[in-house]
Amino acid sequence: MGIFRKKETVPLTNPNALVATQNLSELVIRSIREGVLIIDANGNIALANPMASVMLGRSIDELVGLNFISNMVLQDKAGTRVDENTNPILGAIRTGENVERRDLTLVTIGSNKTTPISLIITPTNGPNSSVVVTFRDIAQELSEERERMDFISTASHEMRTPVASIEGYLGLAMNPATATIDERAMQYLNKAHESSQHLGRLFQDLLDTTKMDDGQIKARMEPVELVSTVKQYAETQIPNIQAKGLTYQFGADGIEQGGLSIQQLIYASIDRDFLQEVLNNLIENAIKYTKTGGITVNVKADEHNVHIIVADTGIGIPRDELNHIFQKFYRVDNSDTREIGGTGLGLALVKQRVELMGGKIWAESEQGKGSRFIVMLPRLSKATYDQQRFLFENQQRMQVNAAQHEQAVQAFASGSAPTMAQPAPQAMPVAPAPVTPAPAPASAPAPAPAPVAQPQTPVAPVPPVQPQA
Ligand code: ADP
Repeated sequence: MGIFRKKETVPLTNPNALVATQNLSELVIRSIREGVLIIDANGNIALANPMASVMLGRSIDELVGLNFISNMVLQDKAGTRVDENTNPILGAIRTGENVERRDLTLVTIGSNKTTPISLIITPTNGPNSSVVVTFRDIAQELSEERERMDFISTASHEMRTPVASIEGYLGLAMNPATATIDERAMQYLNKAHESSQHLGRLFQDLLDTTKMDDGQIKARMEPVELVSTVKQYAETQIPNIQAKGLTYQFGADGIEQGGLSIQQLIYASIDRDFLQEVLNNLIENAIKYTKTGGITVNVKADEHNVHIIVADTGIGIPRDELNHIFQKFYRVDNSDTREIGGTGLGLALVKQRVELMGGKIWAESEQGKGSRFIVMLPRLSKATYDQQRFLFENQQRMQVNAAQHEQAVQAFASGSAPTMAQPAPQAMPVAPAPVTPAPAPASAPAPAPAPVAQPQTPVAPVPPVQPQA
């Protein structure tokens, strides 16, 4: 603190002041508890501070002038050494874009000690320029984060059970088939039911975030035609959009053919559950933060990427908040948002899910003029899609066959199967892409009954314990 105060009082026009400032900068770089490297466009280390020397396991004299690749050994979460293709420092030198990572481990040369680090790379002058690299040990931070997450996970798990029970009883009380309630009491119960549902969702979101942080939830990627998939998923929200009196429009890139605009087929790999949740979250937010006007969902593509755009005409987001809204528990706090309920978890979950599908998400907005959320996913060419789809369907078929085989073996072992003549798993077909899954063999178990549609009044499942009289 003293150092910075002193700097402000030194007039920079004084030549001695420049020397003093340089000395102070050096003092800061030497004493800072973060490793600092300056790496030139060729990957050679131009400057290293003492902390960098300690963490890398080489003296400053040894480091300066050498290429960083063999002196800054990085590993990913799986313990695999980061190579030249995936090295974020080389990436930042090439692209000129800032990089921040918290998922890498630094290996100290000599002792082979591994330290989880936060790594920030700042190019000094666009692509192919020197970069400033700062890194620090985050072992303690990660362990505290894990403890916090364990606590949140246990607490939300424990609290979800009684909340489900409350929801269940309220559902029974509100159902004319199971209880008689006067109109005023019904209004109160309705409010209580809404709140308990909200609480249930909050606990579910909390659980989901902790599971994602733990890497417990993995994407099950499937190659799909994206325009029709997004259209189908977004349309599930039309009743909610209309209930708020807003309009809905779906649009997609078209191609001109014989004077007609034909909707383009765009292919990408997605996790179906994740995509549905991402769209639900973005559209629910668009509804929540829009008073008048409407919501548009669009799918566009360039050669390499697909953009799914959810746009609204709502309250918008101040420019300086745009980078923060994807953080956990972050809510824009102003007179527009204060009355609108929320947890600040939705967009954090959306971001995690988009990233698990190999994509990126960002928002564009101006306060008072609506918002646009853009999900970018890698695009598949038609040929790659056909290939991946064929493999995906074969894999599905083999899984079904393996499960049936397992069931048959178990049935035989327990003596309930009449003969040993059970279907063996089919070999992978060699014919090109048949699209429909193979029909189930005659001995396949009967399909599960279709789920019964929910009645209008929410009827919750019967709670596990009967209430006291
Ligand atoms: P919340 O539960 O608060 O809606 P989210 O994580 O979904 O949590 O969103 C974080 C914050 O981003 C919100 O509190 C809100 O301030 C802002 N936000 C998200 N979507 C929109 C939108 N479509 N229009 C305006 N603000 C939005």
